[in-house]
Amino acid sequence: MKVRFITYVNCPCGHRGSIVESIYDDGQSHWYLATLRGLSHTGHYDGANSLFAENTPACTACGLSLTPENVDSSEFMSRQAHDHAEIK
Ligand SMILES: [Zn+2]
Repeated sequence: MKVRFITYVNCPCGHRGSIVESIYDDGQSHWYLATLRGLSHTGHYDGANSLFAENTPACTACGLSLTPENVDSSEFMSRQAHDHAEIK
């Protein structure tokens, strides 16, 4: 089973990016991959949110380090409802 989660992040400057997590688990092998879209790895977040701590996303437009507070919460809610679809 392969599942993809997308966390949208809004920078205060108006730039928008996302963190895409791909999770695969067929009962024998398991892997996890997080990639940044429209964001760079040059942020300096060092808090409790492991997704942000491991990826340290920063805005590619203005360079601001982004944190979980910049997550688009409306998209996050819709992601809970719609983006759990299995990719076949
Ligand atoms: Zn920005």
